[in-house]
Amino acid sequence: MDRQQEFVLRTLEERDIRFIRLWFTDVIGTLKSVAIAPAELEQAFSEGIGFDGSAIEGLSRVTESDMLLQPDPSTFQVLPWRSDGEHQGTARMFCDILTPDGQPARSDPRHVLKRALDRAAQHGFTFYTHPEIEFYLFEGPLQRGAEPVPVDYVGYFDNFPGGTTHDFRRSAISVLESMGISVEFSHHEGGPGQNEIDLRYADALTTADNIMTFRTVLKEVAGEMGLFASFMPKPLPGQPGSGMHTHLSLFDGDANAFYEAGAEYQLSTVGRQFIAGILRHAPEITAVTNQFVNSYKRLWAGGEAPNYICWGHNNRSALIRVPMYKPNKAQSVRAEYRALDSSANPYLAFAVLLSAGLRGIEQNYELPDGAEDDVWALTDAERRAMGIEPMPQSLEHAIAIMEDSELVAETLGEGVFDFFLRNKRQEWADYRAQVTPFELQRYLPLL
Ligand code: GLU
Ligand code: MG
Ligand code: MG
Repeated sequence: MDRQQEFVLRTLEERDIRFIRLWFTDVIGTLKSVAIAPAELEQAFSEGIGFDGSAIEGLSRVTESDMLLQPDPSTFQVLPWRSDGEHQGTARMFCDILTPDGQPARSDPRHVLKRALDRAAQHGFTFYTHPEIEFYLFEGPLQRGAEPVPVDYVGYFDNFPGGTTHDFRRSAISVLESMGISVEFSHHEGGPGQNEIDLRYADALTTADNIMTFRTVLKEVAGEMGLFASFMPKPLPGQPGSGMHTHLSLFDGDANAFYEAGAEYQLSTVGRQFIAGILRHAPEITAVTNQFVNSYKRLWAGGEAPNYICWGHNNRSALIRVPMYKPNKAQSVRAEYRALDSSANPYLAFAVLLSAGLRGIEQNYELPDGAEDDVWALTDAERRAMGIEPMPQSLEHAIAIMEDSELVAETLGEGVFDFFLRNKRQEWADYRAQVTPFELQRYLPLL
């Protein structure tokens, strides 16, 4: 048993932990959990705990299959909302999923990301990410099918004395910090009841785990306050959607590989090639970074979501932005990918973004000129003349592009690639079969 495993076992006794939740994520990004008693843990560490692996396939159960969960002791945390002194505590660890013969399961999104990170490591790079997570706060409890009611009607950066969202952000951030998740920044966003909380940058695997924890913590804290937190990309028509702009950088040891003193925007050749890779492959990876029918309503219905493939510096309409808050700080040079939304599976999304960027480095892609115009204000003809292409228009369109992508197939691996596409085609077919209130309102009086 290694030191981290020993530390976990000791902490269980000291903190009187009664339940250990083993957490893992399905292909669509839903957090799954199975609780075990502390007595089972030694075996979980050494051999893994058996479970029905069809739970990781996504939203639909296809076949029963035996798999093993092996907890990662470095992710051990006590759950503050289940350990308040009244009950014996509950703790959680993220798990890796193994096949019965102890090999990493190909369908495990955490493993998909680890494989992509290994590729970066072969180049000597560590991949860092820093997400800006937007979400809506509605009056709770959730009523299926009913229109959600935002908790307030204030906007971007508004300070609303006595507002519910202040209390909410304060409670949520305290819980996150007590679980070792550092928060850098938080504020009210543009929509009514919409908020943003930005996590401090960390290596991509830690960030992906943190995002899964974040979503759970926010739902728990909201529930305790009688509210409902939602990461749906576009819950309210006519209001901004919820994006998860993510800042990306590669480090070589302690040195930021995106930094070059004196270069334009201090952006190194590696940084330029990485951005060129993401730009070129953006349409292929969009079904993963924007995975729901609803994601395309965020992208294509205003609210400052990006939908044209270009990069810029001080340009909020660009898909990728190279921000420069601290001009001479080597560490802070990075690329902000703005299409990603708050409902993505962070493991898969980071894996495809990284692979696209690495492809740019491996094949020496040229970065096209940056767009300094507001690309939303241009006409289609002007954008075409500048070589600026649109993002996929719908889930159906994004799936059709992904189907032909050798890059995405290789990154996700055969099992996840096929399952993901199958699941998404079904989602599109279900959606297409609907008759919406919009259609009834628009067509019934006329037709
Ligand atoms: N809510 C916008 C989006 O969907 C982003 C607003 C902002 O720039 O933070 O991407
Ligand atoms: Mg924002
Ligand atoms: Mg941003």
